[in-house]
Amino acid sequence: MSVPFIDLKAQYKTIKREVSEAIQRVLDSGQFILGPEVESLEQEIAGYCQTKFAVAVASGTDALELSLRSCGVGPGDEVITPAYGFIAAAEAIVTVGAVPVFVDIESATYTLDVSAIESKISTRTKAILPVHLYGHPCAMDPILAVAQRHSLRIIEDCAQAIGAMTGGRKVGGIGHIGCLSFYPTKNLGGYGDGGMVVTNDADIADQIRLLRGHGSRERYQHRMIGRNSRLDELQAAILRVKLRHLDSWNEARRNRALRYTQQFSKRPIPGLILPQELSGCRHVYHLYTLRTPQREAIQQRLAGLGVETQVAYPQPLTAQPALSPWIPKNCHWPSSEAICREVLSVPIYPELTAEQVDWVVETFFQALDKAG
Ligand SMILES: *Cc1c(COP(=O)(O)O)cnc(C)c1O
Repeated sequence: MSVPFIDLKAQYKTIKREVSEAIQRVLDSGQFILGPEVESLEQEIAGYCQTKFAVAVASGTDALELSLRSCGVGPGDEVITPAYGFIAAAEAIVTVGAVPVFVDIESATYTLDVSAIESKISTRTKAILPVHLYGHPCAMDPILAVAQRHSLRIIEDCAQAIGAMTGGRKVGGIGHIGCLSFYPTKNLGGYGDGGMVVTNDADIADQIRLLRGHGSRERYQHRMIGRNSRLDELQAAILRVKLRHLDSWNEARRNRALRYTQQFSKRPIPGLILPQELSGCRHVYHLYTLRTPQREAIQQRLAGLGVETQVAYPQPLTAQPALSPWIPKNCHWPSSEAICREVLSVPIYPELTAEQVDWVVETFFQALDKAG
C-alpha cells in the first residue's frame, strides 16, 4: 500500500460534476475577473468566518501584505510574528518596509508564545501577526489583551486554519483582520492561487478593495498606489463548490487525526510527541505534525515502504538566509530551534482511509524497530 502525502485527485473525483458545472457557468457568462462569483464567494466566506466583510485577493501572501498596508504599517514600524513556520508572514512584513520581530513559539501548539511577546514590544511596534500553524488556533484571548494594552493591530494568518475555532469563535474574525489562502493544498484549496481578507472593520475592507485594484473605485480614477491582486471568476466558482464541503472535510481531517493519535498511542515510544488540541479549541489539522528524535531514519524507512512524509519546517525563520538582515545578534528562540530538528508531518487529508492511517502507523513502528 502506498500513501502519498496529499492526493488532490482523490478529492476532485468526489466533486467532479459540481466543479464542471461551475466552470461551464463562468465560461458561458463571459465575465472572468471580479464578477458575481467573486462577490458571492466573498459573502459566503464572510458568513463562514463570522465576519462582516471579506475581500478576495490573488493569494494568501497578498492578503497578508495588503492587510499590513491597510493598517498603515510601513517603514520604521515593527511587527511581532512567530520565529517558526512558513515565511509568508515575515516576507509580507519586510515587503511593506517594516521590521519583523520574531517571538518564540509554544511547544504544545507550535503557535506564538504569548508570554514572550511583551518584552519585544517597543515604541515602534504597530501590530502582532499570529499564525494559526498546522490548523491549531493561537491563544487569542491573551494576544488580544496584550494588543489592547499597547494599542496594536492584530492580523491573523489563517492560511492553514480556515474553520478552526477557539472559545466558540472562528479564527480570522477574532483580531482586526484575518488572512486566508486558497493555495491548492490548503483545507479550502482552489485549482490555482487565491486568497481572502476577512474583517469586521468597514474601513479596512474598503482599503483592501482599493489596494487590490490599482487604488481605484471608479474607472481610471486612482486615489492611491495599489496593485493588481484580484481573484478570478473561475477560482471563485470552484471555491464556492468546495466551501459547501469544507465542514465535512475538516471533520474528516479531525477523524483521521484522532485515529492517528489512538494508533500511535498503542505503543509507548520514548521521545514521540503527538499533536495536541487544547481545551476550548477546534484544530482543523491542515497537517498532522509529530515530533521524534529519530526523524531522519524514520522518514527514510517510511519512504522505502511507500509512505510519503514532509518536514514542515526544517529550520526556524530566524535561520533563513533571506531574513538575516532582520535577525538580531545573540538572540535565541529555544523552542523553535529544538522543534525544527524533530518535526515530521504524516499524510492527512479527508480522503485518506482508515486502512492508510493504520498502515502509516504500522510502518512507523517497523521503522522504529529497525532504527533501534
Ligand atoms: C500557504 C501559507 C501562506 C501563503 O499563502 P499563499 O496563498 O501561498 O500565498 C501564508 N501563511 C501560511 C502559514 C501558509 O501556510
